[in-house]
Amino acid sequence: MSQVYKQRSTAEWQSMDAGHYLHPFTDFADQMERGSRIITKAEGPYIYTSEGQKILDGMSGLWCCNLGYGQEEIVSAVTEQLRELPFYNSFFQCAHPPSIELSTKLAELAAPHMNNVFFTGSGSEANDTVIRMVHRYWDLKGEPDRKIFISRHNAYHGSTIGGASLGGMGGMHSQFTRLPYVHHVDQPYWFGEGGDMDKDAFGLKAAQSLETKILELGADKVAAFIGEPIQGAGGVIVPPATYWPEIQRICDKYGILLVTDEVICGFGRTGHWFGADYFGVKPDLMPFAKGVTNGYQPLGGVMVGDRVAGVLKSQGGEFAHGYTYSGHPAACAAALATIKILERDKVLESVREGKGKLLQDKLATLADHPIVGEVRGVGFVAAIELTNDKQARTRFDDNCTAGALCRAACIESGLVMRAVGDTMIIAPPLTMTEAQIDELVTKARKALDLTQQRLG
Ligand code: PLP
Repeated sequence: MSQVYKQRSTAEWQSMDAGHYLHPFTDFADQMERGSRIITKAEGPYIYTSEGQKILDGMSGLWCCNLGYGQEEIVSAVTEQLRELPFYNSFFQCAHPPSIELSTKLAELAAPHMNNVFFTGSGSEANDTVIRMVHRYWDLKGEPDRKIFISRHNAYHGSTIGGASLGGMGGMHSQFTRLPYVHHVDQPYWFGEGGDMDKDAFGLKAAQSLETKILELGADKVAAFIGEPIQGAGGVIVPPATYWPEIQRICDKYGILLVTDEVICGFGRTGHWFGADYFGVKPDLMPFAKGVTNGYQPLGGVMVGDRVAGVLKSQGGEFAHGYTYSGHPAACAAALATIKILERDKVLESVREGKGKLLQDKLATLADHPIVGEVRGVGFVAAIELTNDKQARTRFDDNCTAGALCRAACIESGLVMRAVGDTMIIAPPLTMTEAQIDELVTKARKALDLTQQRLG
């Protein structure tokens, strides 16, 4: 029972919520009309609503609680740190043990050329840091004309002006004025955009749109390419095997920095510490957040490869950038505890070799459902495409009715799955048991049945 707020009825909370609380990514009129779903507690892979409904959380919070809920060791690490040193900043050459320990640990986990980290409070701040750092790098290198970032349509890189400009979400772009130096190229989304091409040929074509864009804009003006190893919020788009090697070749050929946004893929989701490791690419910068603290504290950062860090450290002078909460001690303690559990319990091995395969095999059985066009995924992240024609890969309508119906049917069945248009996406805690994986797949099938019935 909380000591800082009262226990109230759902109706009372909903009314206060509608009156005062502007939620992220929320239709405020709808919030006032229908009322919010209020989550009051969580345990293992389950969340509980104020109405007492127990729901299997197929999205790990928001792709962040990779070890699920109820991780007492993380709670203790945070509490102890708050008692010892609740805050001190890391500006002007100050540091504290948890941020030093975490930076060293992250350098150990990342590829050998990734030896430095810049801490932020979130993934969006990490991507803003990428922009600032990349511009600084090219200025110091004596190539100040290199200011352009190339990203992909339908990418998600956060919600600050920098993050949302890097992202390729039309719905976001229409609501603000974007940074003028960010350009977008094709995404490797075979199910939606691959037409009659085979997957590998399509993957190459999507990657080559980067080269076309570089030549159009001028290779000496392009600073960096950024991409999520697997696009998450865009619909868990797992690129064909040909895609990332071609992107690497193109970045190397033109000397352009490669940034892999690891905010979702990092910390075990693919069975590796970073998505770049899964795809075998060598990025120069890796923004991360979410799973690094199991979502228990807000923390993000950018892993910085030697190519960039070497220049910043040897020629830089002061890098005039940072956040009050960069390397917050309690957040760093949460991250150290999270990494300790991931290592001790061999969670990545299990995602790579055991339960990740089990989850993917069991989800694949849903491909025979009449409204499912494709099931795809890696480790503990997956997508289920809803279609009215498995061969033509077409949608039921232009309003994404199927996705909205399926999302509601999932909740009714006691499962959180997110809908991106008519693509159902799932990223459950990596710690699920086999029985919980079965429960997830059974509930997903039930939701698909209900969706099919309701589509008529
Ligand atoms: N990058 C990616 C790939 C993300 O998925 C997200 C959030 O979902 C972000 C960046 C932004 O992170 P945050 O919401 O912590 O700012």
